[in-house]
Amino acid sequence: MNDTALVLTDICKTYNAGKRNEVQVLRDASLQVARGEVVALVAPSGAGKSTLLHIAGLLDTPDTGSVMIDDADMTRLGDRTRTAARRGQIGFVYQFHHLLPEFSALENVVLPQLANAVAPRMAEERARDLLERVGVAPRADHRPAALSGGEQQRVAFCRALANAPSLLLADEPTGNLDPATSDQVFAALMTLVRETGLSALIATHNLALARRMDRIVHLQDGEIRAA
Ligand code: ADP
Ligand code: MG
Repeated sequence: MNDTALVLTDICKTYNAGKRNEVQVLRDASLQVARGEVVALVAPSGAGKSTLLHIAGLLDTPDTGSVMIDDADMTRLGDRTRTAARRGQIGFVYQFHHLLPEFSALENVVLPQLANAVAPRMAEERARDLLERVGVAPRADHRPAALSGGEQQRVAFCRALANAPSLLLADEPTGNLDPATSDQVFAALMTLVRETGLSALIATHNLALARRMDRIVHLQDGEIRAA
């Protein structure tokens, strides 16, 4: 047992390998996130932030290199173990909320817990508590379409944290919001992360937000560089 939540080692990823449109996105990218640490991943559009986060979140596989989460090697898991790890250990937030449109805010936070075999009453209690903490409890019964962009992202944070993961991965979580809303929503996310002692890797190209995290790393020419 050591004190790292995420260890990416020498990750390589090439799209369309061997074809004319081959793109080598990651070249020996390595990164560690300590337990309880919040790291900003800063790079311009197209640099490979989403690719790196998807690999860390077990949504995609690297060509070579390894992914360790909570000291376990996740690189070549079978589908079932991979799905279980994704559901229980990792919370993922996208730039667009990706909430289920036909369900309420509350249900969107309850459903991942039911998929993880949590009893319905406990799942609802936890969902209400999370929504309360980010200030959207009064909107719990509304569907995503009836919520503002900032509220939608707050609900998406709650959904990501529903199963009490140890690692939060967020891909430009406020990239779709106006600056003032972005600031408030980011503050709500940081409060949740700090209260739960989560480790997080958060991609952004907003340097002001990045500076509010514990550490900044850059993704440049497919490699991770210290700020
Ligand atoms: P970022 O999130 O930093 O904007 P991405 O990880 O989305 O960067 O993309 C990095 C590069 O990889 C870009 O050039 C993009 O066009 C390319 N890319 C991403 N996904 C695919 C894919 N599925 N197939 C081919 N190329 C891709
Ligand atoms: Mg991206």
